Amino acid sequence: MTEQPPTDAAGASDDTQVPDGPEADDIAYEVPPDETAAECEYCGRPFESEGLLALHRGRAHEAAITDDERAAYEEAYEAESGQLGRFRLKALAILVLLYFGLLMVYAVV
Ligand SMILES: [Zn+2]
Repeated sequence: MTEQPPTDAAGASDDTQVPDGPEADDIAYEVPPDETAAECEYCGRPFESEGLLALHRGRAHEAAITDDERAAYEEAYEAESGQLGRFRLKALAILVLLYFGLLMVYAVV
């Protein structure tokens, strides 16, 4: 084990605090230093975007969130559902095309 001296991070932003104690909840989150994370104000977990944070708030802190946060959660949930629906439709279309395409190839060859 080599003890490394603490490095002086030049220009390190002081708004990114990584909890390194028992309150880290057994999961360590590594946020790249050049990224800004949206942090949950209830448990401190970092998220890539406000939408993901809104979804997390609605799922994990359902009892504690305010009306504004609930509205944001429902909005993000609707957006996510729409994206998921379109993805399912595209995946189904690709599967059908692949199936009949291979069927035609099999019939011809
Ligand atoms: Zn949280």
